[in-house]
Amino acid sequence: MASRVDLDGKPIAAMTICMIGAGGFIGSHLCEKLLFETPHIVLAVDVYNDKIAHLLESSENKKQPWDGRIQFHRLNIKNDSRLEGLIKMSDLVINLAAICTPADYNTRPLDTIYSNFIDALPVVKYCTENKKRLIHFSTCEVYGKTIGSFLPKDHPLRQDPAFFVLKEDESPCIFGSIDKQRWSYACAKQLIERLVYAEGAENGLEFSIVRPYNWIGPRMDFIPGIDGEGVPRVLACFSDNLLRGEPLKLVDGGESQRTFIYIKDAIEAVLLMIENPKRANGHIFNVGNPNNEVTVRQLAEMMAKIYGKVSGEKMLDVPTIDVTAQEFYGEGYDDSDKRIPDMTIINKQLGWNPKTSLWDLLESTLTYQHKTYSQAMKTVMAKPTAN
Ligand code: NAD
Ligand code: UDP
Repeated sequence: MASRVDLDGKPIAAMTICMIGAGGFIGSHLCEKLLFETPHIVLAVDVYNDKIAHLLESSENKKQPWDGRIQFHRLNIKNDSRLEGLIKMSDLVINLAAICTPADYNTRPLDTIYSNFIDALPVVKYCTENKKRLIHFSTCEVYGKTIGSFLPKDHPLRQDPAFFVLKEDESPCIFGSIDKQRWSYACAKQLIERLVYAEGAENGLEFSIVRPYNWIGPRMDFIPGIDGEGVPRVLACFSDNLLRGEPLKLVDGGESQRTFIYIKDAIEAVLLMIENPKRANGHIFNVGNPNNEVTVRQLAEMMAKIYGKVSGEKMLDVPTIDVTAQEFYGEGYDDSDKRIPDMTIINKQLGWNPKTSLWDLLESTLTYQHKTYSQAMKTVMAKPTAN
């Protein structure tokens, strides 16, 4: 492997990275990137490893070029004394572990708060005490609702970026009332951000905080009834509907807006943070693609069209149906109205920009979904249902 240099032209030494939550969607892509393109060693921590099983397989007959550079440690960070030892062995800790599906925020608020705040506390503590650098995964949801959302619908200031673009060092965090338990996640993430930041200010912790904006791609969540149960995030919900040949469900009319970024673009940003500590330490980074904004309704229509193209299946005459948030998520759901990342800080510190258009990223992701799940879905749907 050619020797790697950082953004300032200095050689990058191989490091040992303790990646907590490595078996999830983002973790699996980050593991691939580190193993395929860098010399770094990954101590992968998670309770599951299905999404990284292809990286862990090795045998006499099937040697992999990255053999010896990844170890899987099956442990729950809630209650496992091995965690501190793994952090001590590492140069860098990346914490991805969290409950992060909106369907859980209002229905399992305690688990959500414990997972995103309490369970992350020992990770931060061990990093401070052992002087280990930490990259902590937060969320764009810490911004909550935009200032503009409080203006009347046709107010001209709604068009002014000052009322909706989200800036790491300026925008306030605006959450709904306590009975809107949707915000349990954002609030827990905000508090852990404040704690990490305070450890930096008072005790010298070297940290970066990542705020992902709807990173999507292969291996995100699960398809209910095939490789998981429950209500996943929107990409998997809509993929499930498409695989079943049923209309895509638009919560409250699908008026909320999101910017979607291809996981592979986002992982490039994380690798830059990993390999450029001097530029990344002490910063909070928005990581998203401001050019890929759509309403959820537009996302649904685009996915239906692209799925028709990649699967060869006929599109439904009525590809979407409206459902209320109460029906879909239950009591206490609320929504972020619009999420456009300001890119000034990540541009200045790391010179990073996203590349992939929404159409292209959906095409490659839906090709993957079709290839991975369509056969299994046919089998599931052919089974008689008990009643
Ligand atoms: P994911 O659910 O696919 O991955 C999280 C992983 O953490 C899972 O594999 C899970 O098993 C593991 N985990 C959870 N609790 C654990 C525990 N107690 N011990 C050990 N492992 C545990 O989610 P993801 O999309 O990969 O998200 C990773 C991080 O990024 C999360 O912190 C999430 O809040 C944040 N984030 C992601 C997005 C996105 O667009 N994907 C958006 C905003 C924030
Ligand atoms: N959504 C929807 N139908 C679904 C799943 C989600 O209309 O089947 C909406 C949801 O209400 C939200 C958006 O899609 O407005 C994005 O939801 P996701 O679960 O991906 O998470 P979020 O971006 O809110 O964190």
